[in-house]
Amino acid sequence: MTPIDTLQPEDIIPLSVPEIRGNEWEYIKECLDTNWVSSAGKYVTRFEESFIQQAATKYAVACVNGTASLHLALLAAGVEPDSEVLVSTLTFIAPANAVRYVGAHPVFVDADINSWQMDPSLVVDFLENHCWQNQAGELINPDSGRRVSAILPVHILGHAVDLDPIIASATRFGLPVIEDASESLGGLYKGRPLGGIGTLGCFSFNGNKMITTGGGGMLVTSNSELASNARYLSTQAKDDPIEYIHHEIGYNYRLTNIQAAIGCAQLENLSQYVQRKRQIAARYDEAFASIKDITSMAEADWTHHARWLSVISLNEDSSIDRHQLATSLSNANIQTRPLWQPMHLSPAHQNSPKLGGQIAESLQRRALCLPCSVGLREEEQERVIQVVHSVFSAS
Ligand SMILES: *Cc1c(COP(=O)(O)O)cnc(C)c1O
Repeated sequence: MTPIDTLQPEDIIPLSVPEIRGNEWEYIKECLDTNWVSSAGKYVTRFEESFIQQAATKYAVACVNGTASLHLALLAAGVEPDSEVLVSTLTFIAPANAVRYVGAHPVFVDADINSWQMDPSLVVDFLENHCWQNQAGELINPDSGRRVSAILPVHILGHAVDLDPIIASATRFGLPVIEDASESLGGLYKGRPLGGIGTLGCFSFNGNKMITTGGGGMLVTSNSELASNARYLSTQAKDDPIEYIHHEIGYNYRLTNIQAAIGCAQLENLSQYVQRKRQIAARYDEAFASIKDITSMAEADWTHHARWLSVISLNEDSSIDRHQLATSLSNANIQTRPLWQPMHLSPAHQNSPKLGGQIAESLQRRALCLPCSVGLREEEQERVIQVVHSVFSAS
């Protein structure tokens, strides 16, 4: 019998749950009391204004969810059907799907082994050495004959993509860079807030993100034309609100005032959330330093890691694999989660072009996300640590 079999069943420790402890109730009550419950109201405006501060951009457009904000960003950036968008392969599926919504095709880019983020050297090599420019100045992928129309780096797990080389190359060819910062609100790249650095940036406020509105998203940019186009498309492309005249097919992608009210309250506590998430990750790092089969997710010198999820990775030759560790933790009522199937392996995106992919596959095989709610109690984290230690000492 291994030591974990002797543990008593205890309360479930969830992977990551929202932390509602600020002004959420007060702000929602005001929405209900004043009848401002729908897609207009002072909290929508206030949430957008707070985001302009947070992301250090000039404009922000609140959206119904993060996926919708990505869809709008691609439309606003002029990404056309049958063009190609470079997307991280190691990501949640939303950005790859959004590329398909506009009729474009993703080209999946492998992760860098150290940061786990989109590898900039693959992007730069593809754009500068593989593609060619036609007479109109468009960049063409010779393998598919399609035009490259945008780059969509995803800052996964709270950590920044190394953006400088990507933006330098994109600028050379006039390509927009759309940052997906859905998992990395509060993270920094060389001191600058993630999401506010590229042409456009997107965020998600789903239940388990850095902050939540139940469901919600935000698009940020400093380009007024892109911002007004995104806002226009998010409200059914309404040109005349009285006569209901529309010149284009729009979408109903606006966030409601009630959700924005929750968002305003959540954002007030963001810096505390980041601090606590970093503290939790640091405790795991310290506790597992003595287990040679475990490596913690690193923090590159260009980033301030928001540590959305605390992730460990098992060495290639570890005596315990990810499934075994997850099962042992699950038996002890501790929730864990692997990373996503890399997009180049996803049946939903099969036959999409890719640049590498083996590093993402290896990371996905070996990584496991551990409980890291902002409200995780110290004794709960010690329980997680104890179970992990007992699994490795039993092996
Ligand atoms: C959560 C997430 C999104 C968007 O999610 P929504 O549920 O639509 O808000 C987009 N990209 C990434 C990388 C995500 O993790």
